[in-house]
Formats: sequence, C-alpha cells, structure tokens
Amino acid sequence: MNIFGHGKNKKKTTSEWNIECYHLMRKGRYEQALECCETVLELEPKDVSALDRKAKCLEKLNLLEEAIKVRDFELEEHPNMFPALSNEVNDLIKLGRAEEAIERIYKNLHVYEARGKSNYIEFCFSLLLQVNPKRTQAWYDRGNYYAKLKRFDKAIESYDNALKIDPTNEIYKKNRLRALNQKEEAEKRKKMVVRYCQQCGKSFSPEDYPDCPNLPDFMVCPRCGWQNKFPINYKKIL
Ligand SMILES: [Zn+2]
Repeated sequence: MNIFGHGKNKKKTTSEWNIECYHLMRKGRYEQALECCETVLELEPKDVSALDRKAKCLEKLNLLEEAIKVRDFELEEHPNMFPALSNEVNDLIKLGRAEEAIERIYKNLHVYEARGKSNYIEFCFSLLLQVNPKRTQAWYDRGNYYAKLKRFDKAIESYDNALKIDPTNEIYKKNRLRALNQKEEAEKRKKMVVRYCQQCGKSFSPEDYPDCPNLPDFMVCPRCGWQNKFPINYKKIL
C-alpha cells in the first residue's frame, strides 16, 4: 500500500496527517485512516493521537488482537490516557480475556497510585468492578485505598460489599472494623475543635452552633456579643 496515496504533498507534517486521519475516520474509511496513523508513527512513534486513532481504527476493523498491542504501547507511553485503558479493557472482554483485563487495570492503578492521581484511581476501581462486580479483592483494595485517604464511609462501604460476597473473610472484617474505629475517632476529634472569643476569651464549641458541621469563621460570642472573625482554617485542638 502506498502510504502517500492520500495527498500529493509528500512533506505533510504529522499534524496534517493526523487531521487527514480524523476526516477519514469520520467517513468510516478506517483502512485508509490506519495508513495515515502508520505514517505519523514512522515519524513519531510515540505520537499519542496517532496511537489512539490507530487503535480505534483497528477496533473498528475488528482487529482486536492488534488493537490491544497498540493500546498496551499507548498506555505504556501515556498512562494518563485512561479512555485508552477503558477501550483496551473492552477489547479484552470481547475476546473473553477478563483476567488479563483486570491485570491491565491494576497495572495502571499502580502507576496512578505512584503519581497520586486520585481521579484516575477511582476510575480504575470502577472499571475493575465493571469487569467483575463480584471480585472481592477489588472491593477490598478499594476499601484500603479510601481508608488510607481517611474517607471512611467509602472504605466501609467497600468492605461491606466484599463481605456481602465473602461474609466469613476475617481480613475484610478486621479492616472494616478498623475503618469504623478510625471514623469514630475522627468524629470525636472534630468535636474537640475549639475556638476562643478574641474579646473575652470564652471558648466556643460545636454545640454552640448545632447547625454547622464545622465551626464557622464568624462567631458572635454568647457572653460578650463580640463579633469574632476567625482566619480561615484557624483551629485549636484541645
Ligand atoms: Zn466574648
């Protein structure tokens, strides 16, 4: 096949090839679009648009094995392309390779953890549970992830889901209990946050402001009527 067949100018730039590829794909001409991708990748083997479009063309042409290889490379080079992850997972599922799909997701999950990409991590967990909602390990890992972030409600919910599937698992029970204790501990500590009136020194407690989950930044002192304006994040813990 002649890769220069779509234009007279042999010195097209990669972005021009990418644009041509885009238009071909819109017309459903995936084989020709694929050639554009190949041309770009010869010049720039890691070009993210070309890699992504190449994989999409292969998926459209139902060449899933090849698409998966391209997706693997794409994700290796550009781990943040999480739509690519979702597409590769779909390809693997279509081929009945769910276990590999799960491995693929965990591989990215570890990259995102190392980079602290919380949105992507959450996306990985939802993807894992989409592949198999009964995978207790995924619920358990999700629980541990949220527990580490001190998001205890989400952690407990995850452990609960793991325990629904595997009710006698002692490790899940132990971690659930620990998250529950930590949650109660955190709530107790929150109640101990106290501020003092800047005029008379009286202490405020959350009970003075029952409608507020946290102490507000403006507080009228019940004893002297002074309007206190506290700097944001001013907190004093007993
Ligand atoms: Zn006062």
